[in-house]
Amino acid sequence: MQNTFLFVHQSQEQQRLLKRYGDMVLLDATYRTTKYALPLFLVVVRTNVGYKPVAEFICENESTMAISEALSLIKKWNNAWNPNYFMTDYCEQEYQALQLVFPNTHKYLCSFHREQAWIRWTRESKNHLSDQDRSELLGLLRSVASAHDRETCEAAISKLRDSVLYKSNTEVRNYVEKRWLNIKEVGVTGFSPHGFNVSVTTNNGTEAMNNSLKSLYLKISGTKTVSSLVEIIVTEFIPEQLLSYAKLNYMYSSEHKVYSANVPEFLWDRPRTFVQHCLKNLEAACCYTSQQVQEQSKGLYKVQSEQSCEWYSVDLGDKDRFPSCECRSFKSTFLPCKHFFAVFKHTDSSWYSLCPDYISSPYVTLDTDVVSSQNNLKCTKTDTEANGVSTAQCALREKLKILQDLSYICVDHELLLNATAVIHEITRKMKFSVPKQDSLPLLSKQDDELKLRVLPSWKRKGERQKK
Ligand SMILES: [Zn+2]
Repeated sequence: MQNTFLFVHQSQEQQRLLKRYGDMVLLDATYRTTKYALPLFLVVVRTNVGYKPVAEFICENESTMAISEALSLIKKWNNAWNPNYFMTDYCEQEYQALQLVFPNTHKYLCSFHREQAWIRWTRESKNHLSDQDRSELLGLLRSVASAHDRETCEAAISKLRDSVLYKSNTEVRNYVEKRWLNIKEVGVTGFSPHGFNVSVTTNNGTEAMNNSLKSLYLKISGTKTVSSLVEIIVTEFIPEQLLSYAKLNYMYSSEHKVYSANVPEFLWDRPRTFVQHCLKNLEAACCYTSQQVQEQSKGLYKVQSEQSCEWYSVDLGDKDRFPSCECRSFKSTFLPCKHFFAVFKHTDSSWYSLCPDYISSPYVTLDTDVVSSQNNLKCTKTDTEANGVSTAQCALREKLKILQDLSYICVDHELLLNATAVIHEITRKMKFSVPKQDSLPLLSKQDDELKLRVLPSWKRKGERQKK
């Protein structure tokens, strides 16, 4: 594309995260919530500790052409990247751009934006819907969106198409067919085998991401130029996001803390939300008796529901098949439910009988790369050394400020040239000496911040001092 502005950015660490978590991606356009004129897009993945941006771009307009050009570039930079799922908000241009660049990727619409779009449309006076029509249509659309398997989804679509409202109202018919049902994955929350990639809408990580986006909006709301916007994103927002990712992975690890006795070893070195979920279900499984668990064949069981006389099929999976359970909890989270733990309690099967790809998935394990880098950092640097360094950093920044001010008023040409040459040489040396750990910036700050945030649960009293 010629003569149009396009800024695309991705750091090395972001590239690594995209490689690790790039199966399910979200495209978030922030221009709708800021006063900033240019559309800013964040490519976001769900990591083991919430959502993190893995690439960002600013384009001159929100046309399909501009968005697809940026996406193509990111795709080119990450040559192995081939996402299975892409989630986007309700925007035709975004959807079309995704369709161009990733034709085979399943595309989902973000449930929040989808709901907003429906409500808006049903309220528009030109569509002539009574209050009763509105709630009926919303109900029908919602049941399509909340279907947990293809069968239920198809049934909900048929029910919608069979309704009097659909048959008698051309606007409704056009809207439903052209706007929603032609996008096949209108919002079916998860009937794919790799369920937890798709169950993103139920994950509380979105809230954390929204909070960081809010802080980004605040930061950029006062910016007047594109360069200051870019600077904030590249030097503040992205490093902060990556730092919090690294910190959380380190904090949840057994390198950082000693697990309490009630946490079985198979739950060590996993994200906290996952561990908490499993512990809750492990406890809930205690009341199951051996009569309520029946083996069908190797790895396949029937477990009776606690509330009803219903029996759920529990499949532990194998190297080619993800585990599954017919209960609601599993279908919505894709995380081990109490029925799995009931099986482990009353049969020869154990946690390790579960599908290996499932229990070693990047979503339910810690990122060992950042854990070990954080740990090395802790071990190699003594406190006094760190203090000395940070004092020297402050002193340098003070001198630089003075130098910057002087650069406006000094008129000695030769002196200016000399100073530039000296600074150039020092900059070169500093660039060379900066710790390069997968481009994780400002590593020296992490030690200090780690001390401020202690996550104390799972740690036995008195053991914190040992570390
Ligand atoms: Zn279950």
